[in-house]
Amino acid sequence: MASQTKVTIIGGGIGGYPAAIRAARMGASVTLIEKDVLGGTCLNRGCIPTKALLHAGEVVHTIKESNIFGITCSGYTVDFQAVANRRDTVVKQLRLGVEGLLKTKKVRIIQGTAVLKNASTVQVVETGEKLAPDRILIASGSIPVRINIDGADGPDVLDSNQVLALTELPKKIVIIGGGVIGVEFAQIFHRLGVPVTILEALDNLIPGFDREIAQSLEKILVDSGIEIITRAKVGRIIHNNGKTDVCFTVADRENRVSGEKVIMAVGRRPELTGLDVDRIGLGHEKGALMVNPYMQTSIPHIYAAGDVTGGIMLAHMAAAESDCAMVNALGKPEAIRDKAIPGCIYTSPEVAGVGLTEEAAREQYDVEVGRFPFFACGKALVINQTSGMVKIVSEKKYGEILGVHIIGPRATDMIAEAVLGMSMEMTAEELAHAVHPHPTLSEAIMESAMTLCGGAVHMP
Ligand code: FAD
Ligand code: NAD
Repeated sequence: MASQTKVTIIGGGIGGYPAAIRAARMGASVTLIEKDVLGGTCLNRGCIPTKALLHAGEVVHTIKESNIFGITCSGYTVDFQAVANRRDTVVKQLRLGVEGLLKTKKVRIIQGTAVLKNASTVQVVETGEKLAPDRILIASGSIPVRINIDGADGPDVLDSNQVLALTELPKKIVIIGGGVIGVEFAQIFHRLGVPVTILEALDNLIPGFDREIAQSLEKILVDSGIEIITRAKVGRIIHNNGKTDVCFTVADRENRVSGEKVIMAVGRRPELTGLDVDRIGLGHEKGALMVNPYMQTSIPHIYAAGDVTGGIMLAHMAAAESDCAMVNALGKPEAIRDKAIPGCIYTSPEVAGVGLTEEAAREQYDVEVGRFPFFACGKALVINQTSGMVKIVSEKKYGEILGVHIIGPRATDMIAEAVLGMSMEMTAEELAHAVHPHPTLSEAIMESAMTLCGGAVHMP
């Protein structure tokens, strides 16, 4: 590897900055161009701020159920501005951390908009500066999409960025789209005291997750007081003196629901603005940059990572791709390891899954399914979070684990064990025989594996 290979990275999100750090560690001279703030969507407008808000909702929930633990609380108030301030403090601290790391690594950070003039030249729009690096990484991320219906661009219809800029709680919220963003925002606002309706086009929430787990989440959210309408075909949005009506049909029956604000959470699309992909000759498919397993685009010295490549649009995937791209760009061929990528939802209870859903596994294999409910787990009872289960899907003949799906407390932390197990091609029996600490929630993973090989201890 040449010690002073010049690398230019477009985008300072989690698909971009890990590559900058890796490239600097490998001896390259690195320039990172970011048009907004370092950290991108995840840190500033996605993962971190939403989780800070979800945690505030969790605090409200804990106060409300404190009497179960023998603690009496004499009321509470939600100061939304203070909640938002705390969220922003967390974001700022992490952003400064990223900036510090890049500076330590002597990465040159340019605040500006990058465009590709040709396959070898990156230009900064604001200053006109031209760079001619040896390697380019495109990590320009993604932006929210809106459905194309009447009223969708009205002032009270917000995408996730605009929701996070709210300074006060709306009186009522309608969410179009019951995917990950939809359910997380639904619980945030509902727990902070706002009535919420979700309109989802498909048969159930969070498509892509194991159906049994998705149905379980839907029931828990409905029981908590969130209104959920599935198979809803949204037709138009009517704006009327501070009230917004979303008109929809279910099985051809017309209906409408009103809210002060409407959240549009129907997906995201890769951000290709300014890249002029067709003129430059960058291969793309369904609006996303095409890459090979080495994160290389159709132009060999141009790499891409993160949401701009489509597929799984998750922060941990983007970070892995970012690192992988630079390792390859600077001379060490190493394909992306995408065998066991977890998907997580940070509602309460949390949802997490890795590998094949039961439905997908049944299409390809002869499978067995082991389940262990949290009500039979001592630690879950201690913390009074007994809803949900761990579900393991394994291949019948050799017992290899094909998928693990959890709905329950700390599911998003616990899924890491399944990720590791599946990366090592572990069998359910090996997982069942691994001694887990007691009393912990992780015992539910072990016991669900046990149901596939002789029976769980704490289930009849
Ligand atoms: P981005 O984070 O979008 O970063 C791209 C960066 O490039 C941006 O900073 C942008 O300003 C910059 N840029 C774009 N074009 C140019 C240009 N021409 N010149 C200079 N700079 C440019 N994922 C999870 O794994 N867990 C979660 O809990 C989670 N929660 C989320 C919650 C919400 C509300 C949203 C919207 C997303 C969430 N995600 C989550 C998804 C996650 O945020 C993305 O997968 C991740 O941010 C992708 O990183 P990226 O670097 O590819 O793109
Ligand atoms: P999504 O694809 O997860 O969900 C979109 C939902 O909207 C789907 O359920 C879809 O059926 C529904 N929908 C689409 N058109 C509709 C219509 N016309 N009417 C009603 N419903 C409609 O997209 P998202 O929730 O916007 O999230 C975008 C991205 O952000 C995803 O890639 C996701 O991975 C990422 N994200 C991840 C997390 C997390 O990891 N916890 C959190 C938030 C966002």
